[in-house]
Amino acid sequence: MPRSNAYDFVFCGAGCGSLSLLVRMLRSGHFNDKKILLIDKDTKTKNDRTWCFWEKDKGFFEEIVYHQWDTIAVHGDGFSTTPAIAPYRYKMIRGIDFYEYCFSEISRHSNVEVVMAEIGNWEQQEGQTVITLNGQPTSLGTPVLFNSLYIPATPNRKSLRLLQHFKGWLIETDQPAFDPKVATMMDFRAEQKEGTTFVYVMPFSTTKALVEYTLFSKALLQPAEYDKGLNTYITEQLGIKDYRIIEEEAGIIPMTNEKLSFKGRGWQIGTAGGQTKGSSGYTFQFIQKQSEQILQQLLKGASLDKIPSSPGRFRFYDNTLLDILYHDTLPGDKIFTRLFKKNKPQRVLRFLDNETSLSEELKIISSLPTWPFLKAALKQL
Ligand SMILES: Cc1cc2nc3c(=O)[nH]c(=O)nc-3n(C[C@H](O)[C@H](O)[C@H](O)COP(=O)(O)OP(=O)(O)OC[C@H]3O[C@@H](n4cnc5c(N)ncnc54)[C@H](O)[C@@H]3O)c2cc1C
Repeated sequence: MPRSNAYDFVFCGAGCGSLSLLVRMLRSGHFNDKKILLIDKDTKTKNDRTWCFWEKDKGFFEEIVYHQWDTIAVHGDGFSTTPAIAPYRYKMIRGIDFYEYCFSEISRHSNVEVVMAEIGNWEQQEGQTVITLNGQPTSLGTPVLFNSLYIPATPNRKSLRLLQHFKGWLIETDQPAFDPKVATMMDFRAEQKEGTTFVYVMPFSTTKALVEYTLFSKALLQPAEYDKGLNTYITEQLGIKDYRIIEEEAGIIPMTNEKLSFKGRGWQIGTAGGQTKGSSGYTFQFIQKQSEQILQQLLKGASLDKIPSSPGRFRFYDNTLLDILYHDTLPGDKIFTRLFKKNKPQRVLRFLDNETSLSEELKIISSLPTWPFLKAALKQL
């Protein structure tokens, strides 16, 4: 249980959102006199996820980038491209390296208290923030509270909710089987009958790679079906007959048109605060950008109310694409391969990062089938 009953900052959840912001605050050196509480129900000692993302320059977590590639591959039915993506580099960070790195920084700051507890509800009582920790209402004073506990809203008739679900195997072979210079970002040469299905392959050497079997669909598969999808891809597409599974990971990322805002139950960050892109599930870089903005506001002593939300037009594009995927108006594999077929990869990556200009977006839009997108877009309007 917390040692004090008065904190300046409280972080509910110690995942990517909280740690990305807290470590930035600690590194800035401006919060050493503040009492900070970080709460999570989990010890964060497992390699529970791997983050893949792209960026141009060295990022805040550059030291723990496990591997990076300057060439990506996208494959679909009758289409393959293997472009260099400079000035971008495709990067991967392992969850365990991230947690260890962040907790090592935190351990150097005696003003940060880490508490392992299940967070229940919280409320304001006589001006105090009272959070239920392991069933025990606990008064924490009047902190600035960052909350990364994602609680999906009750769906309504306008809700579009897909799951991005996946299983990955880190595999090793005796014979060289991979090109470590090329990361396969999306390979749609898999059965598409349960929803948009693709595999991504992150090779670390000629004999070691992470292979992830991924679907965008309304429901999860039976556990054995992910294994079957992975094995089929490895044996048939990669042509590897003998391999060993060293590690496994699985996950679910919500893809939704639910409007999750920064301002909510406390200051909502991470997936809980809408940093997961509704149409792709990418989150890591959005969290990094928002953490930087929050830090700058805190350093200026400015109101966090001013943190900009992502431009409304990108929510509109996301919801339009989500509508198409949800209603299966067009097959997702065709949409994504077409994006890469008709546009430079850098433009697609910028678009997926919400960083394109309007004129670039017009080029992207005109590369996609007009009518289905127009109909879905009108529904969103
Ligand atoms: C397996 C996996 C792989 C992913 N890969 C990518 C990727 O390649 N690229 C990308 O951009 N995004 C990826 N994502 C999406 C996204 O980046 C991650 O989900 C990211 O961790 C989100 O950060 P967050 O802080 O919002 O949530 P989390 O990192 O999940 O942190 C939330 C924290 O809250 C804690 N918590 C939850 N409920 C309670 C409670 N009641 N009491 C106490 N603690 C609680 C959890 O234990 C957790 O530590 C992936 C997600 C998963 C699950």
